[in-house]
Amino acid sequence: MKGPLNEFPIVKTKVPNLDRTFDLNDPKERTEYFEAKVGLEIAKLREFFKNNTFIAYLLGKKNSGKGTYTKLMAEIFGADKIAHISVGDLVRETHKIIQEPAERAKIVEYLEENYRGYISIDEAIDALLGKNQKALLPTEFILTLVKREIDRLEKKVIFLDGFPRDLDQVQYSLYFRNLIDYRSDPDIFIAINIPLSVIDERMRNRVVCPVCQTPRNLTTMPTKEAGYDEKTGQFFLKCDNPSCNGARMVSKEGDTAGVESIRERLELDDQLIKKVMSLHGIPKILLRNAVPVASIPGGVVDAYEVTPKYIFNLEKNTNKVTIKEEPWIVKDDEGQDSYSLLAPSVVVSLIKQLAQALQL
Ligand SMILES: [Zn+2]
Repeated sequence: MKGPLNEFPIVKTKVPNLDRTFDLNDPKERTEYFEAKVGLEIAKLREFFKNNTFIAYLLGKKNSGKGTYTKLMAEIFGADKIAHISVGDLVRETHKIIQEPAERAKIVEYLEENYRGYISIDEAIDALLGKNQKALLPTEFILTLVKREIDRLEKKVIFLDGFPRDLDQVQYSLYFRNLIDYRSDPDIFIAINIPLSVIDERMRNRVVCPVCQTPRNLTTMPTKEAGYDEKTGQFFLKCDNPSCNGARMVSKEGDTAGVESIRERLELDDQLIKKVMSLHGIPKILLRNAVPVASIPGGVVDAYEVTPKYIFNLEKNTNKVTIKEEPWIVKDDEGQDSYSLLAPSVVVSLIKQLAQALQL
């Protein structure tokens, strides 16, 4: 499953004469980091957002960090300027609320004014509720739900996640801007290229606190304290949250199989990106989650922009678990040793390319 990796630019995020380092997990240092790396572009975008917006289609494999990048954009530009719409979440939420008669009436009223399609509103709702196994939820219906969500938001920049989801939906996305009457604001495709090995490791090592549900990752985002299970010979994380009393974090069902459980979806996501990359007349931003190690000497990125890997060790004398950090090296889809970038560094690349795409 090779991705069209060569077309994705390696964007230099290293700035000459910037001597200091930044802790990208610290919100305050993150703000300083963005200022130091793309302060000029941020100022231009802020000016642009005063009177304009855009709609961006986020394309990337499942677990490629789409939600995280949007959150960071909202952190930089303000939640009053940036909105994230996950089509999957929206459909699930609608499925839930449409079962209350009052909510259903409101949604039906909106659909009657805005929905056009091959099956009736009642049939589409049956399909949504799973009452009609034969009818698939039509794209026209999903788009009307998205339009309703956009209508409810104040005029904001929209990062749309989960549409287009299938190859035949790409066509719809070309005209979606007109469909939702998004003034004449630009629309942009943002494609994220992430090595399969990164998604696999992220999934396998993902854990969650059974008490407070805080998500962590055993190898890339541990807690302060870890433990060792003598029976299984495995290390585990203890929740940092004081009220959880060091609860042992656990894997989610299905995650331990890694990408195998979602391989079909990942292949479709890959085809989607390829199809979108062949489109003309619409700006495209190509983001890399990983850069080849060979491109680092001389420096396109700084060391603190690279995702670290954490190694656990059981101290024989004290029986305590210590955690050591080292750069995480992964194989990209073409087999090259690569560094996986931390989300803020990918966002620096996004901001640079956005300023260009919008011709600011
Ligand atoms: Zn907890």
